[in-house]
Amino acid sequence: MIRAQQKPLVEIESLIGQAKNVLVLGCGTCTAVCLAGGEKEARTLAAALRVSAQIKGVQREVRHSLVQRQCEPEFVREVEEEALWADVIVSLACGIGCQVMNERYPERLTVPGVNTCFLGAPIEHGVFDERCQACGDCILHLTGGICPIARCAKSMLNGPCGGSQHGKCEVNPSNPCAWQLIYERLLSLNKLELISAILPAKDWRSARDGGQRRIVREDVRL
Ligand code: SF4
Ligand code: SF4
Repeated sequence: MIRAQQKPLVEIESLIGQAKNVLVLGCGTCTAVCLAGGEKEARTLAAALRVSAQIKGVQREVRHSLVQRQCEPEFVREVEEEALWADVIVSLACGIGCQVMNERYPERLTVPGVNTCFLGAPIEHGVFDERCQACGDCILHLTGGICPIARCAKSMLNGPCGGSQHGKCEVNPSNPCAWQLIYERLLSLNKLELISAILPAKDWRSARDGGQRRIVREDVRL
């Protein structure tokens, strides 16, 4: 899932500016799961904005609401009345949800209340690690199910780089060396021959270097 972190209150207030009617809009999917932008976080942020406005003597009404998936236009239709009431909408969804809101309600400004960070997985409660960089050409079948693009600091396709110490990455020793993990995993799968096969240079055209990407499913297109 997409992982995000809420922006500091002072930054969110600066994005709101002089707006009188503010809607804090949470998302019930990715940012809810990573505790950055679900119903509870939207309610808490709205309360904090109200208190801050009172302390500063700013005339402002702050409401909060939630859509299950802010990244899909049909879901954000559910909050049309509240969206059109607001001068500014603070989106607690990922950057996709914030953009969908701006596209669906162009007469209103939707600002980001979170920083969208990466595609990741929870490794313990409240801790999320990056797992995928959406490169568009998945090679997990060659690397024991461990992504060297997202998890190796140098995104090496033919690792390790030679700098790892005691199984830790030389770039950030608090992280395991991805290629050490790949080695151990391939060993346990009895597929160690895969690590000595030279992977050819990756065709990065499927990644995002060519600009915005698009998937078209002609079989379901209307
Ligand atoms: S190889 Fe590419 S698609 Fe597969 S997990 Fe890694 S970054 Fe994601
Ligand atoms: S130490 Fe391992 S994870 Fe770090 S850059 Fe080198 S190969 Fe990649």
